[in-house]
Amino acid sequence: MHKDKSLKKEEYKLLEVGRCENCGGILKDAGVGIYVCSQCGHETLSPFGKVKKYIQENGPDNAYNISQATGVPVSRIDKFLREGRIEIPDGSDCYITCEMCGTDIRYGRYCPACATKLKKELSSALVATEIGEVPKKNGKMRYMDTDERKLSNKDTRKR
Ligand SMILES: [Zn+2]
Ligand SMILES: [Zn+2]
Repeated sequence: MHKDKSLKKEEYKLLEVGRCENCGGILKDAGVGIYVCSQCGHETLSPFGKVKKYIQENGPDNAYNISQATGVPVSRIDKFLREGRIEIPDGSDCYITCEMCGTDIRYGRYCPACATKLKKELSSALVATEIGEVPKKNGKMRYMDTDERKLSNKDTRKR
């Protein structure tokens, strides 16, 4: 039996983060979108940092494009949005939707109306970042429509 129980939970967390590209040391999450090497102090952008930088430089985009540009998986980007760590600015063409009613929201998991309903039902407070904001301007395209987008790109592609 080679069950490795020598690693504590915290150490697992560190391993998940990755290794330093300079010296192979274990990276630590510095918490501001940056990973710092525990050995040489080399700094790299975390997946969150990469996504944030991309949005700052290129403006809002759908998760598929952000994923292509940053190498961060779509599921991870979706999680950042759901956690309210990043948000889609007003007036963009793509949003995520409320998990209850499908209304467009800029971040979080529920629209304010559903959050109010849920709060009453659950009587437990939702985390503030789980309650998204409804964009003032309605988008033409929804965030998860990447397949449709791909198809329409194919149709208009030059030969
Ligand atoms: Zn290092
Ligand atoms: Zn809703």
